[in-house]
Amino acid sequence: TYSALRGRTAVVTGAASGMGEATARLLAAHGARVALLARREDRLAGIAETIGAEGGRALPVGVDVTDPAAVASAVERVHAAYGDVDLVVNGAGVMLPNPVADGRDDEWTRMIDTNLTGALRVIRAFLPDLVAAAGAGRTADLVNISSIGAHLTFPHYAVYSATKAALTHLSATLRAELGPRDVRVTNIEPGLTDTELGSHIDNAELSGQLDGMAAEIGPLTPDDIADLIAYTTSRPARVNLRQVIALPTRQA
Ligand code: NDP
Repeated sequence: TYSALRGRTAVVTGAASGMGEATARLLAAHGARVALLARREDRLAGIAETIGAEGGRALPVGVDVTDPAAVASAVERVHAAYGDVDLVVNGAGVMLPNPVADGRDDEWTRMIDTNLTGALRVIRAFLPDLVAAAGAGRTADLVNISSIGAHLTFPHYAVYSATKAALTHLSATLRAELGPRDVRVTNIEPGLTDTELGSHIDNAELSGQLDGMAAEIGPLTPDDIADLIAYTTSRPARVNLRQVIALPTRQA
């Protein structure tokens, strides 16, 4: 099913854990070369080593997507190792819920700068590659991992949800810009998924609430999302599953 991934060159952000890691591993398992981008270089090195041991190709690239200079140097490292890229997955993200009344502008800034502006930096950096690949008749993919949070009105997740609503809308409007140039834009909106995402919440009540939801609902696994991304990016280039909402069956 995923044989079209062979020979592709991918960049996956947020590849140090969760959905990004699972996606990178699956793309590599199907013959794509994958640049792994995130901040924790030790994690990336271990994942790249595992991919290599399984016969795949992966390049660990430590980068903080909130730092424009770091993104620029990451792009150079990817190009030096792999040349042009034809598949970009924006998975880097943070979720730091708290009541807006608490005024945690440190958290707001981090979420906006990672989930929205960070994705935008990565998109801009690799857009010339994607346009060139499509222009040369190759399949070119931009995949943004947004969230069902883009549509929910869940108390205390206002800023996170706003970043995801913005990312979803960015995907839609970018699609209007890039689709006519044969760059396929896919927006994935997962529901509750079992990853490290909730581990950075510094509000015990909200952290407990999330654990309770997970116990009740039974979250998706990162592999479930990786599978979707491998599926959407391995369709014939004319087929664009532009918006995929993937929820645990029990999530209302
Ligand atoms: P994880 O926390 O496991 O993955 C997030 C990844 O982003 C990590 O690998 C982290 O690595 C990386 N990251 C965070 N900040 C930065 C940064 N500034 N620069 C570079 N990389 C960064 O959680 P998930 O796998 O769940 O998250 C993947 C995406 O899925 C996120 O965008 C999240 O919002 C979204 N999502 C998650 C859902 C869930 O229920 N889990 C539901 C819907 C959407 P490092 O710390 O090493 O930088």
